[in-house]
Amino acid sequence: MEKISKTLDILAEYFNYTERTTLNRMRNPEKISSEKNKDFLEKPNAFKILIACLLSLRTRDDTTESVSEKLFKIADTPEAISKIPLKKLEKIIYSSGHYKKKAKTLKYVSRELINKFNGKVPNVKEDLLSIKGIGPKTANIVLNFAYQQPTLPIDTHCHRIPNRLGWIKTKTPEQTEIALEKILPKKYWKEFNAIFVLFGKTICQPVSPLCNQCPVNKYCEKIGVTSNR
Ligand code: SF4
Repeated sequence: MEKISKTLDILAEYFNYTERTTLNRMRNPEKISSEKNKDFLEKPNAFKILIACLLSLRTRDDTTESVSEKLFKIADTPEAISKIPLKKLEKIIYSSGHYKKKAKTLKYVSRELINKFNGKVPNVKEDLLSIKGIGPKTANIVLNFAYQQPTLPIDTHCHRIPNRLGWIKTKTPEQTEIALEKILPKKYWKEFNAIFVLFGKTICQPVSPLCNQCPVNKYCEKIGVTSNR
C-alpha cells in the first residue's frame, strides 16, 4: 500500500495538473491559466463532459477538443443535438473518426436523456449504464469529472499500467476497476484516470515503454514488459 501511495504521489507531481487531458480541463476550467479554448471550457457541464467522452473514444485528445468545441458552438444540449440531422452531425464530427457510429450514439444518447431523464445527465451509475452507448468508463468519467463522485474510469492505460507495476493481476478493464477499488486509497481516485492516461501516452506506452525515463522505475515490477527503452 505504501508503494502504491508513493508511486501515485510521484506521478501526480510529475504530470502538471491543469494541462492534463481535455476532459480533465473541462472539469477544472477555473484552474486553466491560458486563454486557449476559454469558451469551450467555460464551466463544468455534465452533458458536455459526456459528449466529449463519447467523442474521445479511439481518437487523439487534441482532436477530441477541437471537434467538441466545434460541435458545442452549434449544439450543446440534448435537445439541440437531437435536432441536428444525422448527416449534418456526421459532417461536424467527421475528424473524430468512427464518425457514423459516434453520430448515431450522440443522437441516441441525447434522445434517451430527454425521454428518460428530463434532458438532464443522471448522477447515478445504473441510470447512466441504462443508456445504450454509455459504458462503464464513460459513466465513471461523468460521475467523477462532472459530479465529483469517487469513481475509477478505466481505459486501456489505466488497465495496463497497474498490471505492469505489479499492483494487480487482471485481464479486463472491468476486473481492474474492481481490483483497484480494493487497493487504491480513495484520495487518489479523482486524479487516477487523468494521471494514468497521460502516463500511458507519454512514458509507459503500450509497446516498449520508456522505463529509462520513468519517474517510478524503482517501484515498478515491470510485469509482462518484454522490451523497453
Ligand atoms: S518502469 Fe517501465 S513498465 Fe514500469 S511504470 Fe515505468 S515505464 Fe511503465
